[in-house]
Amino acid sequence: MPFRFDNSYLQLAPELFSLVNPTVVGNPQVIIFNTPLAKELGLEEEQLEKIKLENVLAGNEILPESQPIAQAYAGHQFGHFNMLGDGRAILLGEHISSNGQRFDIQLKGAGSTPYSRRGDGKASTSAMLREYIISEAMHFLNIPTTRSLAVVSTGEQIYRESFVPGAVLTRIAASHIRVGTFEYVSNFQSKATLKQFTDYTIKRHYPALLDQKEPALALLDQVLEQQIDLIVNWLRVGFIHGVMNTDNMSIACETIDYGPCAFMNSYNPDTVFSSIDHQGRYAFANQPKIAVWNLTRFAESLLPLFDENPTLAIEKANQVLRKFQSSFESKWLQMMGQKLGILEVNKDDENLISNLLAWMFANKADYTNTFIELSVPNFNTASIYQEAPFLTWLKAWKTRIKAEIELPLASKILLQKSNPAFIPRNHLVESALSQAQENNELTAVKDLLAILATPYDYSVIAPKYQTPFLGDEGLYKTYCGT
Ligand code: AMP
Ligand code: MG
Repeated sequence: MPFRFDNSYLQLAPELFSLVNPTVVGNPQVIIFNTPLAKELGLEEEQLEKIKLENVLAGNEILPESQPIAQAYAGHQFGHFNMLGDGRAILLGEHISSNGQRFDIQLKGAGSTPYSRRGDGKASTSAMLREYIISEAMHFLNIPTTRSLAVVSTGEQIYRESFVPGAVLTRIAASHIRVGTFEYVSNFQSKATLKQFTDYTIKRHYPALLDQKEPALALLDQVLEQQIDLIVNWLRVGFIHGVMNTDNMSIACETIDYGPCAFMNSYNPDTVFSSIDHQGRYAFANQPKIAVWNLTRFAESLLPLFDENPTLAIEKANQVLRKFQSSFESKWLQMMGQKLGILEVNKDDENLISNLLAWMFANKADYTNTFIELSVPNFNTASIYQEAPFLTWLKAWKTRIKAEIELPLASKILLQKSNPAFIPRNHLVESALSQAQENNELTAVKDLLAILATPYDYSVIAPKYQTPFLGDEGLYKTYCGT
């Protein structure tokens, strides 16, 4: 069998999941398959050829080693606590790769589960291809993320605002344990279950912490630091997750749940694309604040394990949470310094950074392309790059990195590995998706994926993929759970 399943989640308390099989679909067809990822996972070609891949990845056929489950979790959605759970995702099992790594193999859009509430358990082809494109783009941008192995069309129509073709995405993740999973266990299960689940999570993701005197506290600390790293990476490339509810924050600290996410074009810290985010809760520059809010919910879930004494438990949690601000600020400064090609950034560089951001904001300059300009002079043809405010900033920057005569090689290398030459531009993603959905034509999706596989390759000449949308960006809207 291609998958080597070892289903450790099944050993946990039965309240943490439901045994449920995917819903059989009419006419499954693999429309895209990630061969390089299959190789990385150690899924061998001859083994894959022995199974009916479209049946297995649509959920029509359950391999003998697989015991499908839907995971239970809760979560704060836009600040409100709800019971959730996998309403349209079914975990086939945990696959052990050739180098011994454990990966969840999950089918998203595979039919209803006990947690579906009013949802149909299904997903549209275009939403699943969107997740495929953007998660793969994030991976190649060197940002921790769940990945996409395949999209299988079901041959069935599902109803959204109109009838659209349905599909199932095979999602690969370090795990699907979320802040919301801890909220569920802490709120609705016993302290013993919480302890068992926390130990399980530590053993699975952070085994080095098992020897710590206070492993639960060490877990909070570790997740806090890794979430900071993740969000700083998002800010580096202009990524807006769009729905940072606590159920969409992974304890393995991968970017997860690609619903209304999008990439910012012109720089504006308040950028929001999600059609339901009216208050801008999940706006571009709000993401660090939301991360600490979510981590506070995580800490609350773990309180019983921090100390028998509730006051002391809170004190311990706060000691960790208080680190967020300074750690974030220092990692952000480091990252922005790298985006400017500064080899050793320090506090004095803050002005240089904020002046550039202020200029970008005032001039609606494209975030990605402005940073490209630094290592590729005259990349941008817009007149703002020839006018005094930008030229004055450029002069100060060149002095700082000693580039008055020539850009030092070390800075150039740093610039080009910190600043992508290619991001998934929203208009290109949408146009590729509509060709896939309306004409069953995957060429544009595949062309886009090919470009996004080498986002830091400045030798690739493909202006079409670098030109921002020239229309009214304010009209671009993204949607959850389609
Ligand atoms: P999300 O906004 O994707 O994080 O989803 C929030 C919750 O809604 C999760 O419990 C999902 O499993 C559930 N959900 C989303 N879409 C559907 C659907 N079409 N059918 C059933 N449940 C869904
Ligand atoms: Mg979710």
